[in-house]
Amino acid sequence: MSGHRYHRVLLKLSGEALMGDGSYGIDPAVLESLAAQIKPLNEAGVQIAIVVGGGNIFRGLAASAKGMDRAQADYMGMLATVMNALALQDALERHGVFTRVMSAIEMQAVAEPYIRRRAIRHLEKGRVVIFAAGTGNPYFTTDTTAALRALEIGAECIMKATKVDGVYDDDPVTNPNAVKFDELEYIEVLNRGLRVMDNTAISLCMDNELPIVVFDVKRPGNIERAINGERVGTLVRGGS
Ligand code: UDP
Repeated sequence: MSGHRYHRVLLKLSGEALMGDGSYGIDPAVLESLAAQIKPLNEAGVQIAIVVGGGNIFRGLAASAKGMDRAQADYMGMLATVMNALALQDALERHGVFTRVMSAIEMQAVAEPYIRRRAIRHLEKGRVVIFAAGTGNPYFTTDTTAALRALEIGAECIMKATKVDGVYDDDPVTNPNAVKFDELEYIEVLNRGLRVMDNTAISLCMDNELPIVVFDVKRPGNIERAINGERVGTLVRGGS
């Protein structure tokens, strides 16, 4: 067992996180940085599952706003997450980390089908498991996927990687006076409409008391600090 605070975590990487400073697609430097950060944690025995988004390639909601059938567009969004998952797998394996991609939409040529007990077994064997294709259902998001999968595999927390160093009461990019929260309760996130994860994801975490650590993934070492239980970003949890 690892000497870290958390032993099994679910890391949520949005598609945008993979994009780096670009406006589309995947930045290889970001993948390298992620793989380099994940490798020592994996070697130390931390069980890491990853849910990856697809917003850097395709978002169903955005396409449906322009006239596309929503469900059809959402399936395309789910396929986008598979591309990201394969890119992440490639980077991790090049760093010598054993991985498995499990897809909620069956595509056996590139990924295993998602089977909960098999995912847990992979983690126990020290493999990083990357969950692709979201929940497999349209009208959901990969944030909700992260909450769902984290609960299914018994992860101790969701580590939600973002481009800012936590949750603010306003957008810190446009409002320099925005105030950062160190801790928040789920209900505050919902009531104040804070953009941590979508409401379905937050509700699922709230109902099952699954903590969420929101942190800046661009700062090297932050994944380890969060897994150590150090205060990085914002912790979202129930009232004490
Ligand atoms: N998606 C979906 N069902 C899911 C997960 C994702 O339909 O269970 C689709 C949806 O169209 C979404 C896209 O996949 O816009 C990409 O996922 P998301 O927007 O959550 O990615 P992120 O914002 O994390 O990059």
